[in-house]
Amino acid sequence: MKNIILIAAPGAGKGTLAKSLKEKYDYVHISTGDLLRDAVSKGDELGLKIKDILAQGLLVEDEIVYQVLKNRLQEADCKNGIIMDGFPRNVNQAVKYEEILSDINIDLGVAILLDIEESKLIERITGRRLCSQCGEIYNIYNPAIAPKVENICNKCGSALYQRSDDNEEALKSRYATYVEKTQPLIDYYKNKNNLYIVDSGKELHYTLEQVEKILNDLGDELD
Ligand code: ADP
Repeated sequence: MKNIILIAAPGAGKGTLAKSLKEKYDYVHISTGDLLRDAVSKGDELGLKIKDILAQGLLVEDEIVYQVLKNRLQEADCKNGIIMDGFPRNVNQAVKYEEILSDINIDLGVAILLDIEESKLIERITGRRLCSQCGEIYNIYNPAIAPKVENICNKCGSALYQRSDDNEEALKSRYATYVEKTQPLIDYYKNKNNLYIVDSGKELHYTLEQVEKILNDLGDELD
């Protein structure tokens, strides 16, 4: 399976898409946001430093991200096919990513941009609820993916929570950071002839079908 890099504004649906590709095809889903939040939950010195940066919607220092990411990429399952969600997030990281991958003999794969109108992001972010146990993603404003019982996971019955940076204020800063730092990646991968664009403004199955078509057209045998 081809490795995938997902590029998108916060709330565009990277995590949701990655989760469904993982469930369907056995991809490994690597979210640097999740890796960093795990580091925060350890509560050590590094965790405390990261916590403030996440709350402000700014980017964590590249070196810290490389450290958590490298550890993850060295695990054996990454040979199957990986989906990068939230990394690289600036051009420096993209260059460094190629170095890291070549050291461990993993292909770059394809970059996929999830395209969505900015106006749809607020509802997706402020309505997002996550399961504390199984990680299922819900949105209270979208009946198709709202929890059946308020604040309870449909799948495992555990309590749902809201990410501390999923509010309008932090979204403004996350979106500005995206435009400034992450959008230049679009040109970076376009120049490498390695950028594919899908519409992520509708329901998940529609986004998923577009991605499957891209991978199939590239000769990828999804299984
Ligand atoms: P989203 O993309 O929806 O904002 P993520 O879970 O991917 O959510 O990221 C949450 C936060 O984690 C970001 O706002 C940023 O502070 C930090 N982060 C995630 N990935 C990176 C990265 N590659 N480089 C720097 N900071 C990152």
